[in-house]
Amino acid sequence: MTEFYITENFPKSQIEFEKRFATEKACFDYLFKVKWPEGFVCPKCGHQSYWISAKHIYICTRCESHISLTADTIMHDTKKPITYWFKAMWWFTTRKSGVNAVNLKDLLGLGSYSTAWTWLQKLRRCTIRNGREKLSGIVEVDDFFLGGQKPGKRGRGAQGKTIVLAAVEKRRRRLGRIRLQVAHNCSSDSLMPFIEDNIQAGSHIITDGWKGYNPIEGENFSHQKVNWTKSADKASVLPGVHLVASLVKRLMLGTFQGRFEPKYLQSYLDEYVFRFNRRKSKSVGKKFMRMVQQIVASIKITQEKVIQCEIPECLLAN
Ligand SMILES: [Zn+2]
Repeated sequence: MTEFYITENFPKSQIEFEKRFATEKACFDYLFKVKWPEGFVCPKCGHQSYWISAKHIYICTRCESHISLTADTIMHDTKKPITYWFKAMWWFTTRKSGVNAVNLKDLLGLGSYSTAWTWLQKLRRCTIRNGREKLSGIVEVDDFFLGGQKPGKRGRGAQGKTIVLAAVEKRRRRLGRIRLQVAHNCSSDSLMPFIEDNIQAGSHIITDGWKGYNPIEGENFSHQKVNWTKSADKASVLPGVHLVASLVKRLMLGTFQGRFEPKYLQSYLDEYVFRFNRRKSKSVGKKFMRMVQQIVASIKITQEKVIQCEIPECLLAN
């Protein structure tokens, strides 16, 4: 029953979504079923019967605990109807390139651009699943620069540039899943935690000859170093990670004209990874359901943690 609910219960099309989530009650019922697939269980006393207040608060009939399905989630204290959030989640997860703040503002008739922008920041925070499986098999790892005018130099850092670490699974000639992370530098102190957090022990890791990758050999990985020169450039020796880096650079150019504030970059990279790793998924609604599950299960996301209506300057002109 639980398994069925988790794997099958999502709208298969836009029309089905619109029919199914037209009312607040329908949205709350869905959150309820995602949170308690086997039925209500009071988190305080374990009792299984409840009544619902007019404001969709679930009240345990034994200990009278009040449980809100939106408290401590990205919808905490929202003034907007929950149907708006469901629509935002649907568009965010099911449109190929997502939705930008201007579109979201117009689609929902939100009062301000900053509300739409903050909603998107919150949704991006829910794209990373807790306990997601690490990359495995053959994995290319590299670092690249975003932003800035001049090409960067690894050892010395680069003015005005942001370093991004990338790991890309190789599946014969195809690419598997990816991970992207903003880093302060390219030393092994940055590279090794990224590798250990994101790649399964026993995997075969391919990097270039940068000294920061040397400690890989002492860990539970096999390590292959490839050298690139002018005649054999990076695109030919690390094709997977090179392709992903160029796609991300193109995205950043398209979205920000290459100018962005580094503190917002990770959330955009998270969204990119979310879309990339689900690019072959045939059912659009499944991505929506995953996001609802992630939101319901997410640990407390406080207002302070979400970057509030602070719109990056580079976006103000758009
Ligand atoms: Zn109780």
